[in-house]
Amino acid sequence: MRHLLLALPLTLLPLVAANAQSHEHGHEEHASLDKHEHGLAALNVALDGNTLEIQLESPAMNLLGFEHAASSADDQAKVAAARRQLEQPQALFALPIEAQCALREHELRSALFGEHAEPTDDEEPGHSAISAHYQFACAAPAALKTLELGSFFGSFPGTEKLDVQLIGPSGQQGVQLSPGNSRLAF
Ligand SMILES: [Zn+2]
Repeated sequence: MRHLLLALPLTLLPLVAANAQSHEHGHEEHASLDKHEHGLAALNVALDGNTLEIQLESPAMNLLGFEHAASSADDQAKVAAARRQLEQPQALFALPIEAQCALREHELRSALFGEHAEPTDDEEPGHSAISAHYQFACAAPAALKTLELGSFFGSFPGTEKLDVQLIGPSGQQGVQLSPGNSRLAF
């Protein structure tokens, strides 16, 4: 897969505070998981011409409720269910229908995804992460004005905050989204 996000000059911008409390810890936040923090995930979104790329980097805890290898049938079922959801990104990211975006490629990575699993770059001892990369072809990208993440937060209630880096027609912006503030504007 050609990774548009890697090809673009991605400078990390300070996040626009989604609410007054989000900066109270005083640390620098940006959309990569160099800091593994349960509840927080990074989302990179890039629109270039007709190509829309979305990349999610998340602690497995946010998506599964655990981070150990899934040995019990119960845990394996949870992993399978999360994979199925992540393989249906249109249901998670609610792209406007008018933009006519079709999923072209997707790639899921995690050490928890079984014997052929490729670990993500973010895994730390005792912790696991999941990364998902999607590429869409949008026939009418000008209609791509918003991305609604409410369904994503609803599907994965362990996710409390999404640090988003967006590169679109109006430049680059950093935004922090939450279940109560789940709409990304291009
Ligand atoms: Zn963890």
